[in-house]
Amino acid sequence: MNKASIKSLKPEQLNGKQTLVRVDFNVPMDGTRITDDSRIKASLETIQFLKNSGAKVILMSHLGRPKAESKDQFKLDPIATRLSQLIGSPVTKVNDCIGPEVQQIVDKMHNGDIVLLENTRFYKQETQNDPQLSKSLADLGSIFVNDAFGAAHRAHSSTAGVADYLPAYAGFLLEKEINTLDRVVTSPQHPVVAIIGGAKISSKFAVLKNLLGKVDTLVIGGGMCYTLLKAQGQEIGKSLCEDNLVEDAKSFLQSAKNSSTTIILPIDHVCVQEFKADATQRIAETISAAEIAVDIGPKTIDLIKHSLTTANTVIWNGPLGVFEIDAFAKGTMDIAHALANSKAFTVVGGGDSGAAIAKAGVEHLISHVSTGGGATLEYLEGKELPGITILEDN
Ligand code: AMP
Repeated sequence: MNKASIKSLKPEQLNGKQTLVRVDFNVPMDGTRITDDSRIKASLETIQFLKNSGAKVILMSHLGRPKAESKDQFKLDPIATRLSQLIGSPVTKVNDCIGPEVQQIVDKMHNGDIVLLENTRFYKQETQNDPQLSKSLADLGSIFVNDAFGAAHRAHSSTAGVADYLPAYAGFLLEKEINTLDRVVTSPQHPVVAIIGGAKISSKFAVLKNLLGKVDTLVIGGGMCYTLLKAQGQEIGKSLCEDNLVEDAKSFLQSAKNSSTTIILPIDHVCVQEFKADATQRIAETISAAEIAVDIGPKTIDLIKHSLTTANTVIWNGPLGVFEIDAFAKGTMDIAHALANSKAFTVVGGGDSGAAIAKAGVEHLISHVSTGGGATLEYLEGKELPGITILEDN
């Protein structure tokens, strides 16, 4: 990464500085209970570093989709409580993210204090990257640290706009995420295997296209592979398919043939006639017209495992079957374990794949599990991420 990081700042450059930090505290909630605090934990290194350097740490984040209204269920109070427990010091939660009341509290901060602003998405201007909101947020600090990798693909006031008014640096988490993705996409150790799954091919077609020629093997599984199998002329029964993309899928398969990338598609499937956990399963190489394919079969699992044996780099995004239902989770779980046992540098790209890795209990055996789903995908599509573009150049 050629962008400036807070690591490059000397303690005297941070001591006493009002430091506005965009974190990704968009954690899953059940009412006011945080069901997974990984994202809070992932931001601790940056917060602790700033605190120890004597900075006045002003944190901002969004939570959920409050649709520009202040709603109790999207308030950040439970997050302030959890952060305070994790960091072992008080966190002052304020009830807004801009305005005179917030300014007063910020003005009274001592070195090393932590303040958490209210959900930035309570303002509709946030997602519009409105300059006035960006300026009001920026007025609270004298430098900006972006550590919200999970929101780095958004050009919002709190992720990008503030950098029009303040010098911007990457936090530890953002830097680590970018360096890891660079390591697997820009300068990987070959052979590289990418495993892409998930429900819809439409949401990841750009990723598949961008990976052609870059990775040595591209495994495509999950619901999205059936559009490709249909494009090959195979019977896919009632499996997930985006018919409007079948023609596109044909030309993708043709481009793949002319590229240096080997494509692996499932060669057998777990088929059911009814989409329910206790449905009778049939494992077969061909899907019948009445069937739905809900997972990859054992031959496909072996094929993928075999491709991993020689890999030096593996990137995985998207489950290979309906893994939320235990009866359809074997393919995804077996591949999670294969990644865990691999000697390769292994990166799992957020969201559902992260959940699959957690379900398999192998998080600690993966080189890096990303905190960003959408951001990882856009990076893999080869797009620039606004939350990274705005950082100072080194
Ligand atoms: P995505 O958000 O695109 O990564 O998709 C994740 C979803 O894909 C999960 O909820 C899985 O249940 C779903 N999925 C994976 N394989 C299949 C399949 N064969 N049929 C239907 N849905 C699938």
